[in-house]
Amino acid sequence: MKPCVRPAADAADHTGASITEPGRRPAQDVSMPQTPCSLPRRRFLAVSAAALLGLGAAAPAAARARQVPVPESVLDAGPQAMALTFDDGPSPQYTPQVLDVLRDHGVRATFFVCGDNVGRYPDVVRRIAAEGHVLGNHTWSHPHLGELSAADVRDQIQRTQDAVTEIGGRTPVLFRAPYGEFADASLAVCGDLGLRPISWSVDPTDWANPGSDTIADRVLAGATTGAIVLNHDGTEGGDDDPAPGSGGDRSQTVAALKSYLPRLIEAGYTFTTPDAHPPRRNPSRMFRRSDRLGSA
Ligand SMILES: [Zn+2]
Repeated sequence: MKPCVRPAADAADHTGASITEPGRRPAQDVSMPQTPCSLPRRRFLAVSAAALLGLGAAAPAAARARQVPVPESVLDAGPQAMALTFDDGPSPQYTPQVLDVLRDHGVRATFFVCGDNVGRYPDVVRRIAAEGHVLGNHTWSHPHLGELSAADVRDQIQRTQDAVTEIGGRTPVLFRAPYGEFADASLAVCGDLGLRPISWSVDPTDWANPGSDTIADRVLAGATTGAIVLNHDGTEGGDDDPAPGSGGDRSQTVAALKSYLPRLIEAGYTFTTPDAHPPRRNPSRMFRRSDRLGSA
């Protein structure tokens, strides 16, 4: 089954998220992620600077550039506030188990669903919404967006907006690109549709089934103020009609959640969803070493 994210080494190049292996010293800080949006960000800054200097030719371009959002990898939601996210679902098998754990601990999370799966499992989508969680857009069929035309990228996102709105009741305001590949076209669509592109800062690579203890250790090691944790509750679909994203056995993700969630809560962490807070404005003040749990 195709994983949701790139292999760890490659993913680190795109996200800046470091994975602390068990027994190894955790990273001291979560650095500003180097998402694929770094180029658009530089272009935005350059264009904005030109506009400020009164370069008339740049003004229309600056106006357009301001509409393009930048992927967010961390939250600005106060001390020890984190976000849990689950990608590629909903799954009729694993999503309800995740929801049970979250309910037991009174925690809200974000589910980045594929539109194709929304139609397959509408009751699971309704339960996600009914229990107060947030439904985000993860494209229709989980493609590499950089390989699609701008029109196809828009179709992937718009169809999923429509599917979630129809089933879940609330039009998504959050978007996550498959594999973290926020192509320029998807960011432009986000700007048009009012979607905030959401990346992550902690990737336990749960889709590779490294063992629930390893997944939990990686999440605990990466826990810090503002962290956004990437998980997967994807579904396999039918034998003759495989579902998009990371299908396969996600029981390790569920078992890890049961392990790390109460430990994070006991350590003082709270959980929120990105839509509830404005984008981070000053990355330098976000992280405090004392917030880290370290390897567990
Ligand atoms: Zn995915």
